[in-house]
Amino acid sequence: MYDFVVVGAGPPGSRFARRAAENGYDVVAFEKGEIGEPLACSGHVSTDVWEYVPDEARSELFQNRVFGARFHVGGPGSKPYRFYKREPVSNVIDRVGLDRALAECARDAGADVREGHTVTGIEERADRVVVEVSVAGGGTETVEARMVAGCDGPTSRVRRAVGIDEPEELLHGVLAFDPEPDDRDYVDVHLTAPRFFAWRIPRGDAGVEYGLAAPPGEDVSARFDRLTDAYGVDTERFCSGAIPIGPPESVTTDRVLLIGDAAAQTKPFTGGGILYGMTAADVAAETIDPTDPGTLADYEAGWRDELATEIRLGKLIRACYSLPEPIQHLGLRALSGEIGVHMDRPSSFLSREHLRRLLS
Ligand SMILES: Cc1cc2nc3c(=O)[nH]c(=O)nc-3n(C[C@H](O)[C@H](O)[C@H](O)COP(=O)(O)OP(=O)(O)OC[C@H]3O[C@@H](n4cnc5c(N)ncnc54)[C@H](O)[C@@H]3O)c2cc1C
Repeated sequence: MYDFVVVGAGPPGSRFARRAAENGYDVVAFEKGEIGEPLACSGHVSTDVWEYVPDEARSELFQNRVFGARFHVGGPGSKPYRFYKREPVSNVIDRVGLDRALAECARDAGADVREGHTVTGIEERADRVVVEVSVAGGGTETVEARMVAGCDGPTSRVRRAVGIDEPEELLHGVLAFDPEPDDRDYVDVHLTAPRFFAWRIPRGDAGVEYGLAAPPGEDVSARFDRLTDAYGVDTERFCSGAIPIGPPESVTTDRVLLIGDAAAQTKPFTGGGILYGMTAADVAAETIDPTDPGTLADYEAGWRDELATEIRLGKLIRACYSLPEPIQHLGLRALSGEIGVHMDRPSSFLSREHLRRLLS
């Protein structure tokens, strides 16, 4: 019997598999497709991401550094409000490459990471979890584990199988690329999508990404076409995915835990979940002993200690995207300029450094 079965080898799944294996546990991770595919993410992350990847992978993953964002109440051509730092706020990275690098780290630590393995069933028993797996090319397997980590993304099958509540919301995100290289310093954010935004991200030699997310039913594709028309670009490699916002009350059962998008551990004001998911994965590896189901409560408390306040504040920031336009202009004008905030931590908005900058 395994100590842990990990379902899904995205960033939180591979990070948890690695850390649990380093702790001496017997870990198998099942990934239904190829690691990192299909792409449904901008890979725009704070520079903290480099703490999670080996130094030698850095130059391959890096695409561009970003010093800030230009917020627009309207489309391209509307007045931009600049928020910036003198040093890079964030990096744009190769997301497929990131997933592969993290999965390699998990394998190096001793986890058995298997691609082409789709988990199709989970049965929780008093002393174990029985996991059904369908193998690409034919055949099925049944494996048993003391615990299962559901890291299977926003529409998590594990979550459904064990009866954990759904996230509060599931947004629909789309993106595509203009291959023209662009290594400029700013991302553009357009508050034109209902209850979220559209974006333009310069990705260095990898071109420029255009994207948009909004609640379901908002005809995201038509809005995306209007965005790229307004920019006057033809895009290629259209990708689409779900963004969960608002974690359920509990993300654990007796022997199952959720990590990452499955647990809606995302930033409500950007939809970003790579770093929150890996933060939660580290908490899980530090707190959970697979022979002691009681330790799942430590994970539940631990990840909320790390992230719940940030998620709450992130929801408040997102609510501002729906304010009437004149108030958005007023707020953006008042707050724009040099900032002292960390992009993953809305609480840093209240830091002494940031308040000093605002007041000066
Ligand atoms: C349009 C868009 C743009 C985004 N941009 C950013 C960004 O710039 N920065 C950022 O931080 N975040 C961004 N995100 C969010 C980010 O992609 C997620 O937070 C992150 O991928 C979460 O990782 P995860 O492993 O939890 O989920 P996923 O990345 O969805 O990975 C889940 C994995 O589980 C596998 N899986 C699913 N079901 C099974 C199964 N039954 N059996 C086996 N394997 C299974 C999947 O194949 C997948 O590999 C974006 C999301 C979208 C949709």
